[in-house]
Amino acid sequence: MSQPTLRAAILPVTGFQQNCTLLWCTETNKGVVIDPGGDLDVIQAAIRETGIDVEKIVLTHGHIDHAGGADELRERLGVEVIGPHEADRFLLDTLEQTGRGYGIVGARNLVPDAWLNEGDELSVGNQVFEVRHCPGHSPGSVAFINHAHKVAIVGDVLFAGSVGRTDLPGGDHATLINSIRTKLLPLDDDYAFVCGHGPTSTIGQERATNPFLQ
Ligand SMILES: [Zn+2]
Ligand SMILES: [Zn+2]
Repeated sequence: MSQPTLRAAILPVTGFQQNCTLLWCTETNKGVVIDPGGDLDVIQAAIRETGIDVEKIVLTHGHIDHAGGADELRERLGVEVIGPHEADRFLLDTLEQTGRGYGIVGARNLVPDAWLNEGDELSVGNQVFEVRHCPGHSPGSVAFINHAHKVAIVGDVLFAGSVGRTDLPGGDHATLINSIRTKLLPLDDDYAFVCGHGPTSTIGQERATNPFLQ
């Protein structure tokens, strides 16, 4: 049996149980850290355990539970932070203040090394992810889709049995549903996805049963 060329480890971090995800290419041993919201020692222990060579930090959107630890982890690992879409700049500019409001210690404001746009390609070693801009939960949310392995990372856009909340600054429910319908539901039923909180699911499962999409 051949070894899969793309692997993932999901690490719930912060009081929000946010799914920080390590993604790596087994051909090159190179990987990325997606959404290091906090608990950086837990994330670094997992990096050591997998033995991967982290080439960058990637953000799905600018909320504190996803982005609060990104600036410090960038400093610790000496790598760049890529994403999200620039429409979330206002969230990244105020992470320290937001952290104080939630009683989160150590969150830092952040300027990414690069923003992401619809149609960009994100590489993870030899593996390629398509970037799709999915506003609604936040204005700058992005999803990452790997067609070869039929897997997506969707942040807080879509969940198993639910969709992202839209009551936070810049959120809009109709925009979110439109993003899901035009950017995620066109994928085949057998695409699996990792979401920002809770269990993984598939596009087919959500198409058939998600109460927000019927
Ligand atoms: Zn969020
Ligand atoms: Zn979240």
